[in-house]
Amino acid sequence: MSATATATATKWTCAGCRLTVSRMDGTQTALPEDWAETEQGLICLLCRRDLAAEEAIASAPSDSPVDVRAELRRAALIEFEVRRNPDHPDGVIARTCRSSAPAVAKARQRLRIPNPPAAANGRKARGR
Ligand SMILES: [Zn+2]
Repeated sequence: MSATATATATKWTCAGCRLTVSRMDGTQTALPEDWAETEQGLICLLCRRDLAAEEAIASAPSDSPVDVRAELRRAALIEFEVRRNPDHPDGVIARTCRSSAPAVAKARQRLRIPNPPAAANGRKARGR
């Protein structure tokens, strides 16, 4: 996508949490796969999740009750993970977000992202 996606550096620093990624031998390494270029600069996966959640909360009225904000945050995290790994089974995404498979399925519907192929879903995903 952007030119930075293929760039290499000896050290990458997250603009959000200052996490750094580098090779032990000090050689150049490609930008970590889960990082992204944003207005604030390059940020790591954890900061991307935070940002997605904060954006969702920011879109709510400022007098929203705490539980509404918590719900927005949860939904935003699930949507973020569904977009990031659309071909992962709902159960796997649910575990990543500490959520439930039905909640992930709902997020998929909201985003109009189809279910992964049945072969990847397996029977275990229906178990819980
Ligand atoms: Zn970070």
